[in-house]
Amino acid sequence: MATSRQPNSENLLESIIGLTEQRTQQSLENCLIETMRDLTGAVRVALYGLSSDANNRVLVLSQFSHAAGQPRYFESQAGIPPEIVLRDAAEAFRKCLENQEVVDVPQPDFGGVRILYPVLGAEEHLTGLLAVDYLALSPSNHRLISAFLRIYQNYQNLLSENQRDRLTGLLNRRTFEDQINQILAEQRAALEAGETGSCYFLTIFDIDFFKKINDTYGHLYGDEVLLLFARLMRQTFRGEDLLYRFGGEEFVVLLKATDTGSCLKILERFRQNVENFAFPQVGRVTVSGGCVAITGKGLQTTLLDHADQALYYAKNHGRNQILHYEQLVEAGKLAVTDQEGSVDLF
Ligand code: GH3
Ligand code: MG
Ligand code: MG
Repeated sequence: MATSRQPNSENLLESIIGLTEQRTQQSLENCLIETMRDLTGAVRVALYGLSSDANNRVLVLSQFSHAAGQPRYFESQAGIPPEIVLRDAAEAFRKCLENQEVVDVPQPDFGGVRILYPVLGAEEHLTGLLAVDYLALSPSNHRLISAFLRIYQNYQNLLSENQRDRLTGLLNRRTFEDQINQILAEQRAALEAGETGSCYFLTIFDIDFFKKINDTYGHLYGDEVLLLFARLMRQTFRGEDLLYRFGGEEFVVLLKATDTGSCLKILERFRQNVENFAFPQVGRVTVSGGCVAITGKGLQTTLLDHADQALYYAKNHGRNQILHYEQLVEAGKLAVTDQEGSVDLF
């Protein structure tokens, strides 16, 4: 049984190389838990992310891996709940998170031990917890996991910095491209399976007359407007909505909504929040936007083009408004330019 396997330095180096090849949070997490298991002969590894709803801090299971050839117990999620509300969590979980320390919990269920490791993000900020189940644990494996987890945390911080815009802290355009492609792939898979996937909307915002703000008050005040605009985005949209700075004074939100009507309501609330906000020195700032539904049938470039067309219609017809591409097409105000599938040579 591979319960107290000693990793050799070659395996270890390969694992570090494998980890640093990952480019998305999800694949990085997956690599972390698979490597932990492979390197140390753990029977199960579970990674939890820490999130908060209105009243509670909750640990949500994000990745789970079990060793092959072990009793069925380890293949199941027995004893690995998908969600743990911190207030009601077992003492060991709270101790691990509150004291940010490694905690051993004997597991009479399978006669082994579970080790809980706090997972930290940038500036030692707690982001989750790793639970590793062993039938038998050697001290060297324990040290190995702690060290590997630190490498993971350092790399994860780097990846996260790379995904964000420096000025506002919002996600950057490159991350948008990765994430929209992922959403489109999921929607296409749902369409092929005859299911209706989640309904997403893409909106591009562009601050009105931003050049004038820079020219009148200077770039520093311009930058402050961008920072405060990003803050208003964070305050208005929900935690699960994806917020990006596209570049300059252009921003994007990808939001989940049940239908166009509720999406437009949320966007209108944001437009009003911007209009009503007193920007220091600068005063009133307005925003225009173009919105499009993501159906899984379109390409990323077509979606952006459609949102852009709606945005420019808004700019050319008074600004300070957020318009929906399909509604503009239905009203005959925009011509359909969707040429996907047809070959347009000239
Ligand atoms: P419109 O209402 O048509 O959008 O007018 P606008 O003046 O906002 O349009 P335009 O896109 O021509 O101007 C954008 C300006 O944003 C131009 C550029 O100098 C400024 N800008 C781009 N990036 C930054 C930045 O990081 N900081 C600051 N302060 N200004 C920036
Ligand atoms: Mg612009
Ligand atoms: Mg502008």
